Amino acid sequence: MKVTDVELTISAAKPDQFPKGLFPEVALSGRSNVGKSSFINTLLQRKGMARTSQRPGKTQTLNYYWINDRFHFVDVPGYGYAKVSKSEREAWGRVMEVYFQEREQLKGVVQLVDVRHKPTEDDVMMYEWLKYHELPVIVIATKADKIGRSKWAAHVDRVKKELQVVEDDPVILFSSETGLGKEKAWSAITEKLFS
Ligand code: GDP
Repeated sequence: MKVTDVELTISAAKPDQFPKGLFPEVALSGRSNVGKSSFINTLLQRKGMARTSQRPGKTQTLNYYWINDRFHFVDVPGYGYAKVSKSEREAWGRVMEVYFQEREQLKGVVQLVDVRHKPTEDDVMMYEWLKYHELPVIVIATKADKIGRSKWAAHVDRVKKELQVVEDDPVILFSSETGLGKEKAWSAITEKLFS
């Protein structure tokens, strides 16, 4: 995928701010610090596009990136912050519920996990929840450069096993440092967007 145009069009805090057009979109989700911003920047070939390591506790928004005048990437805030208050967490949970359940433009979700570690309970819950809503998922196993090549297969197997990844969902090994998996990720994403 050659990315010629990217624009952050809206940071939506509630459903009535989601773009109205019927352009397809993929959402990107993962525990904070998993490497989501780095993944977005690598795919879009824009260094500072998605901010890396966003500060915890700031207003949660769905950030819409408008790409090549054809589709959106939707950056979903990283889960697993302890600092947000219970009421804020609940309010945001309702926005997410509406988004994942009702958003017609949503063609699939990229879920990122850190390939070095066993998926967390939050990772498992997120994947289960996406499957409950019958969404196609692309699992991206990040930070592959941080473990030896000889360990890759075993770590990918552990991700598949812990998340109970279904047959149709690809698991792609990725590194924003080396670019490993970039083309595979793009193929998987465009297949969801345009098939
Ligand atoms: P986010 O909070 O999920 O958006 O995560 P970031 O993209 O900000 O990444 C968190 C930290 O992990 C940063 O210090 C990144 O430089 C680092 N990081 C992200 N992806 C990779 C990767 O593929 N390889 C390595 N070695 N570091 C990474």
